[in-house]
Amino acid sequence: MSNTADIERNIAAVRVRIARACERSGRSPDSVTLVAVTKTVGPTLVRAAFEAGIGHFGENRVQEAEEKLASLRDIRAESTWHMIGHLQTNKAKTALGVFDIIQSIDSLKLAEFISRSAGRTVPILLEVNAAGEATKGGFPPGEIGEALAKIREMPRLDVQGLMTIVPLVSDPEEARPVFRRIRELRDILGLPVLSMGMSDDFEVAIEEGATLIRVGRAIFGERRV
Ligand SMILES: *Cc1c(COP(=O)(O)O)cnc(C)c1O
Repeated sequence: MSNTADIERNIAAVRVRIARACERSGRSPDSVTLVAVTKTVGPTLVRAAFEAGIGHFGENRVQEAEEKLASLRDIRAESTWHMIGHLQTNKAKTALGVFDIIQSIDSLKLAEFISRSAGRTVPILLEVNAAGEATKGGFPPGEIGEALAKIREMPRLDVQGLMTIVPLVSDPEEARPVFRRIRELRDILGLPVLSMGMSDDFEVAIEEGATLIRVGRAIFGERRV
C-alpha cells in the first residue's frame, strides 16, 4: 500500500498515461473519466486522492463503502461514488443511499428491485459478461439488447451505458479484441458511457473507446487482501 505522498505522484503518472493513450487514438483526455477504485483503501488515502483532484470513486462492497464514507462526509458531498461490484438485492436499498451510480447491474431482477426501491432517478450501467466466463456476472453480449429494452421501461432508471470486467491477462493486448467487441455493442445500442479498463489495461481500453476507466492499484499500490 502507498502512503499519502505516493498518491499524488501515482495519480499524476496515471493522468500522463491517459493523456498519451488519448493522443494515440485522437481523443481528448476530457473524454475519459478516471474513477479511483478505493476498495481496501483507508479514508486517509481516499482523502489524499480527493485532494490530488480525484472526483470519482469506485467501491465493490456496500458495507465497506458505507463505513468509509462515515469519516469522509465533507468529501462525499463533492464527489461521485460508483458501485462497481456485484450487488445483492438485499443490499440494494442501502447501496442507493451510499452510491450515486450503480455500474454493476447484472440481472433484470436487480434492475427491477432498484427501480422499485429508488426515491430518485438512478444512473446505471449494464454489466456485460464480455468473455463469457461462467464464474463472472453480467449479461451475455447476445442478451444485452433485450435486457436494455426491458430496463428502459422501468421507472427511475437512467441507463447510461455498459460496463465490463475483462479477465486478467499477462499482456494487455490480449484484452483488445474484447474491449473492441464491447465498444461495438455499445455503439449499436447508442449509449454514451463505456466503463472498461483497469490498472493493467486501461490504455488499451482507452484506445478502444473507454469513456470511464476504473483504476485501483496504479493509484493506491498493491492490495494486501
Ligand atoms: C478492483 C476493481 C477494479 C480496479 O482494479 P485494479 O487492477 O486495482 O486497477 C476495477 N473494476 C472492478 C470491478 C474492480 O473490482
